[in-house]
Amino acid sequence: MYPAYLKAGHNGTLKQLCEQARKMLESCSICPRRCKVNRLKGEQGFCKTGLLPKVCSFMPHHGEEPPISGERGSGTIFFSHCNMACTYCQNYEFSQLEEGREVEFEELAGFMLQLQDMGCHNINFVTPTHVMPQILQALIIAIPKGLKIPLVYNTGGYELAQVIKLLDGIVDIYMPDMRYADNDMAVKYSQAPDYPQYNQQALEQMHRQVGVADRDNAGIIRRGLIIRHLVLPQNISGTEKIMQFIAGKLSPEAYISLMSQYLPCYKAEEFPEINRRITSAEYEAAQKIMRACGLNNGWIQESHGLDRFAGTNIKPI
Ligand code: SF4
Repeated sequence: MYPAYLKAGHNGTLKQLCEQARKMLESCSICPRRCKVNRLKGEQGFCKTGLLPKVCSFMPHHGEEPPISGERGSGTIFFSHCNMACTYCQNYEFSQLEEGREVEFEELAGFMLQLQDMGCHNINFVTPTHVMPQILQALIIAIPKGLKIPLVYNTGGYELAQVIKLLDGIVDIYMPDMRYADNDMAVKYSQAPDYPQYNQQALEQMHRQVGVADRDNAGIIRRGLIIRHLVLPQNISGTEKIMQFIAGKLSPEAYISLMSQYLPCYKAEEFPEINRRITSAEYEAAQKIMRACGLNNGWIQESHGLDRFAGTNIKPI
């Protein structure tokens, strides 16, 4: 059955998974931070989110990777807050400040259905990690009302593999970042201790579930893993180690989006070494490493410095 969640919705598995995920909120251990707060009672941990999910915006997005946006756009839902705290975040108004509002599960289900009605190719959850149980809850409401387009799990990649395991048979397209290969960098720029270790374990789990990205006749990805690697100034992202991991532990066929659009936003000015865009030479060096590792499947941005939010109006709901 496609998308995968339809089967899980009809045979009762989704309800069981949802219950299991919801229990994890009681002493929250949804992500590597393991804050242990009781989110069922509204307590908040690092991600500043209690029981109800907070949404900043939802809309058809035409600036994602071409096999995700297609012609009709990717049905993007931008969640507020995040389990990372990137000093340079482009979305800081809602990822780290307060933009957005709490929504009931019915309303979240309604957003998904509206995006489907607008013709979007998929539902693209941006920063879903800290609200994964809430997404499952909304999915239970949306399926009987006719939701039938695939889900994209668009995550910063600071994930627990055992939590990702719960999404087996629910998510068809994983789109995680591989942001850092070096723990010191992850701590310094994103306050994410042990990011490389958690990130790599989670990607192995994602790859096990959905494999290499599979495109339909129109070039749209229907199922599989899309790995995003944001090239940061001065090779802070550790491109070589990351590409070696992908080629060696996942697959030389893995679909990679090599991102050149780094913008020094939010608190980047406090760190002179990242307070600039990347140079053409830095992007080309990352491309060469990718090729040298035998990785030839993916999206290289032809126009270096392309801003994927250009022309996209993220209007708060
Ligand atoms: S999801 Fe939020 S509250 Fe739960 S462990 Fe992660 S950061 Fe902490």
